[in-house]
Amino acid sequence: MKNYEKSELKELFAPASGDMSAEDFRRVGHELIDWIADYFQNIEQFPVLSQVEPNWLKNNLPTSAPEQGEDFAEILKDVDRLILPAVTNWNHPNFHGLFSTSTSAAGIFGELLSATFDMKAMLWRTSPASTELEEVVTDWLRQMMNLDAGYKGIVYDTASVSTLHAIAAAREGLDLKVREDGMSGREDLPLLRVYTSEQSHSSVEKVVLLLGLGQKGLRKIETDEQFRMRPDKLREAIEEDKRHRFIPFCVVATVGTTSTTSIDPIEEIAPICEKHKIWLHVDAAYAGSAAIVPELQFCLKGCERADSVVTNPHKWLFTPFDLSILYCRHTDLLKRAFSLVPEYLKTSETVTNQMDYGIQLGRRFRSLKLWFVMRYFGQNGLIDRIREHCRLAKLLASRVEESEDWELLAPVPFALVCFRACPKAVVNLDALNEKMMNDINSSGKAYISHTKLNDKFTLRLSIGSLRVEERHIETVWNLLNEHLSLAKSHELINNQTQV
Ligand code: PLP
Repeated sequence: MKNYEKSELKELFAPASGDMSAEDFRRVGHELIDWIADYFQNIEQFPVLSQVEPNWLKNNLPTSAPEQGEDFAEILKDVDRLILPAVTNWNHPNFHGLFSTSTSAAGIFGELLSATFDMKAMLWRTSPASTELEEVVTDWLRQMMNLDAGYKGIVYDTASVSTLHAIAAAREGLDLKVREDGMSGREDLPLLRVYTSEQSHSSVEKVVLLLGLGQKGLRKIETDEQFRMRPDKLREAIEEDKRHRFIPFCVVATVGTTSTTSIDPIEEIAPICEKHKIWLHVDAAYAGSAAIVPELQFCLKGCERADSVVTNPHKWLFTPFDLSILYCRHTDLLKRAFSLVPEYLKTSETVTNQMDYGIQLGRRFRSLKLWFVMRYFGQNGLIDRIREHCRLAKLLASRVEESEDWELLAPVPFALVCFRACPKAVVNLDALNEKMMNDINSSGKAYISHTKLNDKFTLRLSIGSLRVEERHIETVWNLLNEHLSLAKSHELINNQTQV
């Protein structure tokens, strides 16, 4: 691995005015790209989870910025010395926690150029490339996901923010003059309600809080034995709320829930929303990418009747964080909710000005990295990679099912496996599984995370790294079984001692 300690770089001080010289920039740039190439090549030598203690980095850094500029070569040495140990290596092929995501070379180059141009996409004239490339790239992905042409894509940073904009647009569509009169102090405004399943992502509740609807403004709908929203319960909840003269105005269904990747039955939910004139927003932050794979396209069935869909290429399309796309049919409502043009931003062109579609004025040139990724891998390259992740997940799921010591706790529609150890010899399965997870995580060899399903401590193993191969799944499966054997022999010894 390239080490800045041994590098040729030295004496790279800032000039008295202006920026680093082109010559120095070139030298540092070459070193940095070499460093990154080595990092990826050697990534398996690093612990997956950073092994530093809390505050380690803070305690090793000065408490204020340097008065005089420092030698850039010294700064880079601190990357090795201070930053790298405190990095959790998301790109490690045995990163299986949360949702396993990874960047790609093409995506990194996109970020580099985006930072170079440093465009603030607010007006078309401040950023024609960003404005127009975003339209093209989001439409390419729309076609790949087989979403209909009525959807227009808008790039935000995260799914949380995409969902915020969708629900704000839904509220604007109620024509209740919330934009003009606000919500507080109004006697004419009944309770506005959003519906989502008890398995949906916490971002939905946060959005409801942020929009001033309060936790009372969110109703969580029961799920079935496969963790999918129950349409009958949704219908009952809406009808009951209407009897109380509340205003149901948005349902957030999920394709690929965070805990288990379950798929809400959009085809059954959509007619309920249509009947009650409720905006249907589909959170496909994780699984939307899977819809580019022909045999997985079923997961978005029913979305032709939804109002908006969010998907995150930064999750499963090898695009560096952050890039989320909101596909929306009613961009007029988004604009009505968010557009506010002060004199100094008025222009004469009849064009799309991206500042009109959200809370941010300037936006980053995010579409560039996705454009690079799509062109470099091509549709087929992306499909093959996602398909392989799903194959590996099925492989692991079959190992779990074949073993008496393990059980699956949820179906595996994509590339996440929810399971636990359940050996007969052990009584407290929650404690056993939690300990195994913590031991594996602190070993640095792999990272897995957990959830609770039907009150059972559940291990979640997500497969999504660009670098993951079958051998990595074997590694983590062996690790799990080694820890289980240890725990079983421990349990046996303890039981014998107690007898
Ligand atoms: N929705 C779902 C289903 C998710 O799994 C997540 C994150 O994992 C989010 C939303 C939030 O994503 P973001 O970090 O882009 O806001």
